Amino acid sequence: MSVFQCTDCESIVEATLPKHRCPSCGGLLEYKPNYERLKEASFKGDFTFWRYRDLLPKVRNTATMREGGTPLHKAERLAKELDLNRLYLKDETRNPTNSFRDRASALLVSNALDLDFATMICATNGNLGASLSAYCAKYGIACHVIIPELVDMGKLAQMMIYDSAIEEYGETVDGSIERAEKLAEETGWYQATPELNPFVIEAQKTIAYEVAEQFGVPDWFIVSMGSGGTIYSMWKGFKELQELGMTKKLPRMVGVQAEGCSPIVDDYLKIKKKSIRPTTHAIAILVANPLQRRLAVQAIRESRGLAILASDQEIFVAEHGIARTEGIFAEPASSGTIAALKKLRGESVIGKDDTVVCLITGSGLKATDVLQALSKKRKTAVVGAEFSTKEKILRMLKQGDAYGYELWKALGKTMTRSAVYQHLSELSSRGLASSYTEGGRRYFALTRRGRRVLQAIDEIKVIL
Ligand SMILES: [Zn+2]
Repeated sequence: MSVFQCTDCESIVEATLPKHRCPSCGGLLEYKPNYERLKEASFKGDFTFWRYRDLLPKVRNTATMREGGTPLHKAERLAKELDLNRLYLKDETRNPTNSFRDRASALLVSNALDLDFATMICATNGNLGASLSAYCAKYGIACHVIIPELVDMGKLAQMMIYDSAIEEYGETVDGSIERAEKLAEETGWYQATPELNPFVIEAQKTIAYEVAEQFGVPDWFIVSMGSGGTIYSMWKGFKELQELGMTKKLPRMVGVQAEGCSPIVDDYLKIKKKSIRPTTHAIAILVANPLQRRLAVQAIRESRGLAILASDQEIFVAEHGIARTEGIFAEPASSGTIAALKKLRGESVIGKDDTVVCLITGSGLKATDVLQALSKKRKTAVVGAEFSTKEKILRMLKQGDAYGYELWKALGKTMTRSAVYQHLSELSSRGLASSYTEGGRRYFALTRRGRRVLQAIDEIKVIL
């Protein structure tokens, strides 16, 4: 029997299966470790996930692909760029399927084996689905994965090669989670969705234990937030170490979200935003309605931490920065931690002598499609900024002949109409545009010379 507590009404529930909903109020349940047992706990054996078995929910089986025990990388070159003395990256890309979720899969699959489940189900933005698929493959369990419309290609490839049944449901993962909850109720399959299985937080808190063993407790611990469960996992891990008398210090937790999708940061800062369609290229943290938002806010509040936003552009620059200086290819979601750190250093919120750990949750190789999209967008953004009015007019004429008033409107009425006619007259005199009259209107057309000039401009821009 395990003991769970409702995160809303605090009632206690005992169950064999990791239950996720409170029977009285429907709130999410959290696993309550037996702190008496914890006091006698010790870290045993090799430096891997299972070293912390005593502090995890009890399981008889041990499903493992040698997860955990990941390096804590001292990021000296990156720290120098940020004018920081001690920066560490917890490199979870080194796990068997290249993300931190392998810890959760190891525990959940062990638990499913204990309870004789033949099928596991999860809703996922990518990493958990990729990971659970691999562990299910190894232990002969059928895996049913529900993904939203947008999933990183590399993660989808993992789910496919490990032979999971893949179902697309929902625009964002929020819809997929609802579907997984319903389907598990109907079928009796093992629920492995991170937001719906309290053991996931337990598995992930081992990251905090490892950091404490590798370095100690840092002043700041920076984590990106999707559903909010990951930052809470770290916080819970550190608090338990304190409970066990293994540390007196606790870190200040910094939670990072993308500007285009920031429900937890908005909650924390008590900002009410109009509901717009959430969007970010950091798909791993694209969650519209985070189920664990309260836990995330609790971790930030209790630790006197911070909630902070990073734009996709800042995240992309950070991803390149980590790779360029440290040789680590991080996925966009986790690169947000460095984007946030850069801001906090810029504002001197984090001091030069403070110690900082950033959690690198997964590998950038899983999300190269995102990189491609971003680099393309960046290129067009640069070109866009350099457009001169004459060039803009030529490009419009390339789409089709037009008369002056039409062009003036298409230019967004940002200048006088006579200025537009002045440009057209100059373009004509240089042989880049020609004009003719039809239906009482004077139309302008692109000449062959004009077309060649446009082509030349494009070629130069590609070189630049
Ligand atoms: Zn409740």
